[in-house]
Amino acid sequence: MDIEQFRKAGYQAIDRICDYYYSLEERPVVSQVQPGYLREALPESAPEKGEDFQLIADDYQKHIIPGMSPWQHPSFFAYFPTAGTFEGMLGDLYCSSIPTPGFNWSCSPAATELEAVVMDWGAKLFGLDSQFLNSSGIGGGVIQTTASDSALVAVVAARSRYIRQYHTDVKQEDLIMYTTTQTHSLGLKAGLVLGLTCRALEVKIEDQFALREAVLRSAIEEDKKRGKHPFIIIATIGTTSSGAIDRLDEIGEVVKDYPSLWIHVDAAWAGVTLACPEFREVAMLDSINQYADSFCTNFHKWGLVNFDASAMWVRNRKDLTDALDITPEFLRSKHGDAGTVIDYRNWHLGLGRRFRSLKVWFVLRSYGAEGFRNYIRAGIDLNNYFATLVRGSSNFSLVTEPSFALTVFRIVPPSVTDPIASQTLLNSLNQSFHARISARHDIWLTQTMINGIFCIRFAVGAARTTKAHIDKAWKLINEEAEVVLANLGQEGRD
Ligand SMILES: *Cc1c(COP(=O)(O)O)cnc(C)c1O
Repeated sequence: MDIEQFRKAGYQAIDRICDYYYSLEERPVVSQVQPGYLREALPESAPEKGEDFQLIADDYQKHIIPGMSPWQHPSFFAYFPTAGTFEGMLGDLYCSSIPTPGFNWSCSPAATELEAVVMDWGAKLFGLDSQFLNSSGIGGGVIQTTASDSALVAVVAARSRYIRQYHTDVKQEDLIMYTTTQTHSLGLKAGLVLGLTCRALEVKIEDQFALREAVLRSAIEEDKKRGKHPFIIIATIGTTSSGAIDRLDEIGEVVKDYPSLWIHVDAAWAGVTLACPEFREVAMLDSINQYADSFCTNFHKWGLVNFDASAMWVRNRKDLTDALDITPEFLRSKHGDAGTVIDYRNWHLGLGRRFRSLKVWFVLRSYGAEGFRNYIRAGIDLNNYFATLVRGSSNFSLVTEPSFALTVFRIVPPSVTDPIASQTLLNSLNQSFHARISARHDIWLTQTMINGIFCIRFAVGAARTTKAHIDKAWKLINEEAEVVLANLGQEGRD
């Protein structure tokens, strides 16, 4: 393809993307293809002779688009939203127009410098302490691929700090990392990858599934007595299942007595709410600033930046570079040796890295801090509206209090007077309900299990969702619930 052919194909691509977005709402929100559909449709090997690009572009429309579930659909309420904005898309386009591995400052100075700048913008947007700024020269921010990578990097840095500063002779098998039963699987994954024991601490429904001081303190005392070495606690602001918020203030108090324990705060989804001053208390900003060694939130979830862009800040960048800096001769550079620049390869696991700050820059400039905050507020308002509908219904009830833009609910019909005694019945009722919802093409909700309770998650945040979509969702939810409840009445009579 030459430059002029690229120009033509590029214009067409943008036209087709615009048409796609115009038609988004009429498309199924869940892809309807069956496993293996693509293998049947495509040749077994790459073509021997190059093909005309128009043919390739048409096949993208024909074969790939139907296999994509549009997470940007306004009736997408599953998992958590995955941000998609045109600004972010253009950032990715420009980024891939000058591919660069960006591992050292000198690879492409703008790639490193823009990342350092936009991560400072992000830190300020979220109200993080000045020590987390790249401009502080002490801590700093780096874009990782996902929150799982951010957690993995945090565990690697915490382990290295623990061994260097506190227990040079500790055996790997005696190290323990803490999560809770509600922590995202990233905790277990990090343990698996690093060969470390991960202990998931029990959290209770009466604490809204938050980790509290007493649980953490007794776990530490117990493990120390057994000769074990706890070295990191992964706390969550906004857990995946239910949006629970660990009591970082209490965790911080415990860690005052055990300063060798690293606190990593995983706020992959909910961290972006820190942009709004009114949510900072709930999202524990003061405690993050006081106690966190590292903090992560994903711009690519609710934060308007197209996947991927996981933002990670550390209080002390030396903890990262001490753990991860390997500088063979071929990677040495004048500025790196002099220590006058950031070499981001020493802040993450890989060597090469994408120029992701470009799309963050585009989004933050185009929306402005005000636009960003308004977007977060709109999602929370819509979710509060949904939660009000649930509260006002006699067939449904909330399983936990709504958290930011997430509501966890289930069917509890009026005939059930003792939900605990009727747990099995309620679970199977809600499973049937969720199966019916899942068979639809026009809405997507995911399920979760919290302490034995099967429940449905309703997560708002797709950029195109409006109040009308919430009303439509509520109507569909009620229609499906009525069928399930009618069947229940039927069975009762049999
Ligand atoms: C979504 C989510 C994650 C995982 O995010 P990735 O970026 O895909 O690794 C981790 N923690 C929480 C709380 C999440 O909501």
